[in-house]
Amino acid sequence: MATLEFAHVSRHFARGGIPVKALDDVSLRIEAGEMVAIVGASGSGKSTLMHILGCLDRPTRGTVRIDGIDIATLDPERLSALRRNVFGFVFQRYNLLPDLDARSNVELPARYAGMASWQRRHRADTLLERLGLGERATHHPHALSGGQQQRVSVARALVNDATVILADEPTGALDGRSAAELLSLLHDIHAQGRTVILVTHDPAVAACARRRIELRDGRVVSDQITGSAAATRAAALVRPPAPGRARPKAASSIATRLGRGGITRLREAAANAWTPLRTHPLRSLLCMIGICVGIAAVVMVLSLSGAARHAVESTLREQMAGRILVWRGNADKPPGRPPRRFALKELEALARLPGITSVDPERERMVRARHAGRDATANLHGMGPSALPSLGLRLVQGRPIAAIDVDTQAQVAVLDPVARDALFKPAENPIGATILAGSVPFRVIGLAMPKAGPSIDGGWNGRVLIPDTTFASKIDSRGLLDHFSVRLDTTLSLIPSDVQRHIVERLRLMHGRQDFTVYSLDDEFRNLARTTSILTMVLTGVAGVSLFVGGVGVMNIMLVSVAERTREIGIRKAVGARDADIRDQFLIEAIALCAGGGAAGLALSWLCLHLANALQSTVHLAIDVPALLGALAASCLVGLCSGTFPARHAASLDPVQALSRE
Ligand code: ADP
Ligand code: MG
Repeated sequence: MATLEFAHVSRHFARGGIPVKALDDVSLRIEAGEMVAIVGASGSGKSTLMHILGCLDRPTRGTVRIDGIDIATLDPERLSALRRNVFGFVFQRYNLLPDLDARSNVELPARYAGMASWQRRHRADTLLERLGLGERATHHPHALSGGQQQRVSVARALVNDATVILADEPTGALDGRSAAELLSLLHDIHAQGRTVILVTHDPAVAACARRRIELRDGRVVSDQITGSAAATRAAALVRPPAPGRARPKAASSIATRLGRGGITRLREAAANAWTPLRTHPLRSLLCMIGICVGIAAVVMVLSLSGAARHAVESTLREQMAGRILVWRGNADKPPGRPPRRFALKELEALARLPGITSVDPERERMVRARHAGRDATANLHGMGPSALPSLGLRLVQGRPIAAIDVDTQAQVAVLDPVARDALFKPAENPIGATILAGSVPFRVIGLAMPKAGPSIDGGWNGRVLIPDTTFASKIDSRGLLDHFSVRLDTTLSLIPSDVQRHIVERLRLMHGRQDFTVYSLDDEFRNLARTTSILTMVLTGVAGVSLFVGGVGVMNIMLVSVAERTREIGIRKAVGARDADIRDQFLIEAIALCAGGGAAGLALSWLCLHLANALQSTVHLAIDVPALLGALAASCLVGLCSGTFPARHAASLDPVQALSRE
């Protein structure tokens, strides 16, 4: 039970720079269980008094005590607990939430108090039943008459067993009959032992209360207990108290009612956030599209560039990994003596360096190849046994160049498809045929195909592969090389760049100067990896911009939503919502919008990737699960970021001003 006490309370407003004293040094005391009418002309300060009484507003000066507790000492959390558990507001314009049905409106304060759903539903139904609205529990406010709406709002005021009912002009918008019914209802409530404070400018309504406080220009001009005649008149309106209704429990003292609500606050905020999403489906949908496109763009860019990188890497790694190329000439050095060629002796010396598996002389020359009246330009390669993979080739017919061919300087050749097509008719079997490379005859022993993906060698000319010893003796007998390649021993833990430095030092020693160029394919590979990852980053950034734009859209919608629902925020605060409840509600709404959009974006990208895979087979677009989860997390983060500002703005709104918004 609550005793309410005002000591020299003033409330000043500044309206256009001019101070307005809405309340001016008001002192009064209202005992628990009293029924009080506050009367006065319009603008006399009645509503202001009511708002301060109900902890919706704070006085500019003076002290307000509730059961002896100075409300200036209470933090916003405890003030909202008082509004939730001690006070029940009944407004002139009912102030029901239009999107909720009668039952949900009545349940609202109980939600914020953390009451279990079955319990608050039961309480709401019982109250509506008792107020003659049992049939109307699922009706929305627009389907109820003024009198019915006001009774719903009375039920809402009672659902948390409030001990003080604050009714601000409750009959102002009602017809005579509904007004009489409502007054009788307030009498019932008073008869149950609750304090009822009734604001009115209608003397007939005021006559229902025994005590009458009159305000004029913010000051109390009279405070009187009226005679029995008025009380009798009021009694005539009073219906007998509803049977079986217990008086409010005396145990529910102010101290216990200040306690925290429940543990299900977040769930309630989520439930509250769901309503606007449901009632504005088109707006929510449009808002989600922005996020959906952004997320789909990010996921698709990541998976496309992932697929491209995978295709390039898998080919290049095979051909390039662990190889260093060395060739004659150095563009970084000033021109001087012609650069020396590499002798086989030098190659043998290099092969003895640690970390090197082999040093392969690269013998290559462009020749005119001929067969049965056809001729073509071809690249003649001298190669060791089993060197096909390093040229990006795979044997498909016949046999490869074997060790015995190398040892015997055999005049045998393996052709690639370009060379084969240039020298043979389509139906012809080239295996066993003899071709001329320059003036040297070779017997074709095999056909090799390039592996899938881009190749670093080859090009427009066909390739004719012959044993390197044959190359050295029959094609180029000088034994001097223009270039060679070094194969690194990747099983050792030596760093390729260290091995490369050793090679450079050794060769410089032998040549007396650095008239050669060393080119590590590992470096190139790393460069390529860096290039693709930069490209991926840039593309992801572009896709991220669309996600950002989507987030801005969400923020915009949320700000509009807060502006539109300012009054709703005021109502929620008046029935006891904490600032955090309001904040969480809008934050969850924003996150839900973004997560919904994100999920749709994932579905969209999944669909697109499947479609892309079905339409082509060059690259397989895999769906990257971490990227998917990351995208979903990103969309929630966008919701959090874009929702924070509107949600904080909503939570910080002043309840009285919010309520006065039309
Ligand atoms: P009543 O309810 O008796 O009609 P109010 O308490 O609403 O009167 O208002 C008392 C005075 O305070 C009025 O002059 C009103 O214009 C002024 N007032 C009330 N609220 C505000 C406000 N938020 N800003 C400026 N002036 C206000
Ligand atoms: Mg008023």
